[in-house]
Amino acid sequence: MRAEVTELEGTAYHEAGHAVLKCAYGVVLRHATIIRDDESEVLGHVAYTISPSFHPDYDTSSRTRSRAEALIMSSMAGRIAEQRSTGIENLEGAEHDIHWEVGFASRMTGSNEEAELYLAWLEHRARRGVEHRWWAIEAVAAELLKRRKLSAKQVRRVI
Ligand SMILES: [Zn+2]
Repeated sequence: MRAEVTELEGTAYHEAGHAVLKCAYGVVLRHATIIRDDESEVLGHVAYTISPSFHPDYDTSSRTRSRAEALIMSSMAGRIAEQRSTGIENLEGAEHDIHWEVGFASRMTGSNEEAELYLAWLEHRARRGVEHRWWAIEAVAAELLKRRKLSAKQVRRVI
């Protein structure tokens, strides 16, 4: 039987999933934390920087498209990593992520039907990305549990 994973551990895997895939896909990370924000009731978050020249809603260049896909897949990686560690799909904890992904993909594709198919394909890729980098996600989650907050530099040092 699997040892019980606490909410904090689940959050650490969730944020580590975001952080590791963001690094792997070239998103500029600022920090990752599992310090609870009582005001917004957020259990943790990963902060990153988006270039002011990033306009995925009308720029259809392949560079912009792959940056957008990196953001969507690294968003999905949070709940995928959490589910892999806890064995439970925490849709409530990922509500904000899912809402953002659906809105973003809908604006990019211009249709809900296309967005749904696009997201299904990206989720498949995100799952593979999490599988391939599981060792790194475990290492970042362990470091987050130890320090509660990691700078981008500290994340990169672990992986
Ligand atoms: Zn998340």
